[in-house]
Amino acid sequence: MKFVADLHLHSKYSRAVSQEMILPKMAQWAKLKGINVLATGDFTHPFWFDQLKKELIDDGNGLYRLKPTIDNSHLTIDKSKSSVNGSPRFAPASTIVAGEAGQMLNVKQEVYFMLSCEIASIYSQGGKVRRIHNLFFFPSLGSVEKFNRALLARGASLRSDGRPVVGINSRDLAEVALKVDKKALVIPAHAWTPWFSIFGSFSGFDSIAECFGDMSKYIYGIETGLSSDPAMNWRIEDLDSRAILSFSDAHSLEKMGREATVFEAEELSYESIYDAIRLSGNQAIGLSGKQMPDYQTSREPSNPSKIAFTIEFYPEEGKYHFTGHRDCNFRQSPEETAKNGNICPVCRRPLTIGVMHRVKQLASREISNFKFPISNGVKWVKSEEGRPPYVSMVPLGEILAEALGAAVKTQKVSDTYFQLVNNLGSEFNVLLKADLSDIARFSNQKVAEGIDLVRRGEIIVDPGYDGNFGVVKIWPDVPSSEPKVEPSQLNLFA
Ligand SMILES: [Zn+2]
Ligand SMILES: [Zn+2]
Ligand SMILES: [Zn+2]
Repeated sequence: MKFVADLHLHSKYSRAVSQEMILPKMAQWAKLKGINVLATGDFTHPFWFDQLKKELIDDGNGLYRLKPTIDNSHLTIDKSKSSVNGSPRFAPASTIVAGEAGQMLNVKQEVYFMLSCEIASIYSQGGKVRRIHNLFFFPSLGSVEKFNRALLARGASLRSDGRPVVGINSRDLAEVALKVDKKALVIPAHAWTPWFSIFGSFSGFDSIAECFGDMSKYIYGIETGLSSDPAMNWRIEDLDSRAILSFSDAHSLEKMGREATVFEAEELSYESIYDAIRLSGNQAIGLSGKQMPDYQTSREPSNPSKIAFTIEFYPEEGKYHFTGHRDCNFRQSPEETAKNGNICPVCRRPLTIGVMHRVKQLASREISNFKFPISNGVKWVKSEEGRPPYVSMVPLGEILAEALGAAVKTQKVSDTYFQLVNNLGSEFNVLLKADLSDIARFSNQKVAEGIDLVRRGEIIVDPGYDGNFGVVKIWPDVPSSEPKVEPSQLNLFA
């Protein structure tokens, strides 16, 4: 079976996160989006941890489900009061009148939660201040409780933020997690973000070993973050034996699933996700001439769990793709940075080095052996080495906004969003699978054309930089003063 997972999320207890990020609403939106497994996020926060204990039941497979008393999936979304960007209002099923059946969600789809948190570590190592974010996963509330206690014993303050800031280094955090539970997963978060990540240009490292030392062998994968895609990560030798994972890092309901990882396994469980991540990299790549780390010899070749594919944001749309200065309204490509240096011509201070440039710095190879097969009208990116392929998507709300000539946060976009999603299954279904004729029937011809262009990758993206998101243009004849760059040229050949 295949299932969709978004394993980097935050609760309302993290800074700058919507108050709507609570378990029942997250589950409800997971169904709209077409996500099967959600991260709980923030399990280190005492109030959120209490909520997890109160609202979730152990499914016996290392994952959790909402208690039936908490679950309102049987409720339907009252479209007239909902917004893509706000909270859907829930109306009890009994109030639904005839003719509104199209608003019913797929109640058969169960949503599972995986216990998770993100920890921000700030410490100095090698004479430099390091700021690294890592994701942690455990298969039981009991292990989470032990982990939280171990952090408190080391002086961590867990109460002020759902994503706590600690002075414990990444290596030690990994050790604490693995001592608590040998099935803990430790995944460096948004690995390329300039300020807060393992490979970040400002306060990161040049390799996983430099960051995690003897714990490196337990780092089975990294999260790409919005500003990089798998093709960029395939250039990094350090990642050849590791899973390339994509999650949303959403701070609000409607952003959930903007990136996601699709797993394929015999069962939906913590174990199958763990195995798929642990075995992903070396399963895919021969690692010829490179010593196989000892932990990998234990793998059973018959293991059926794997990463089927990832669903990606266009990396140019990410807010750190190019190098630049937001306040100076200045950005440049890696080629321009190589030629002109990294000093801002406006303010003369160093530029914020973008992810594209940073990948180039750490890359050990150019990868040009791509295939771009089109399957059912969707363009895929596949490596010759057989790593999990991916598909680049634009969030449905953004496609609708451009097609309808309205802002994302308008009733017009919201109405069409719910019309499509409630009739055609889920946002992922609309984006990747639904017939264009059905899409046109529940919206209009221009929306169907927009989705078709996104599926075939025939769009243009103004690259983001220094905290500014990039801008997608499906119909590039719309006037714009900004220079345009073809995404496929950017991420593959730059
Ligand atoms: Zn983070
Ligand atoms: Zn986060
Ligand atoms: Zn500047």
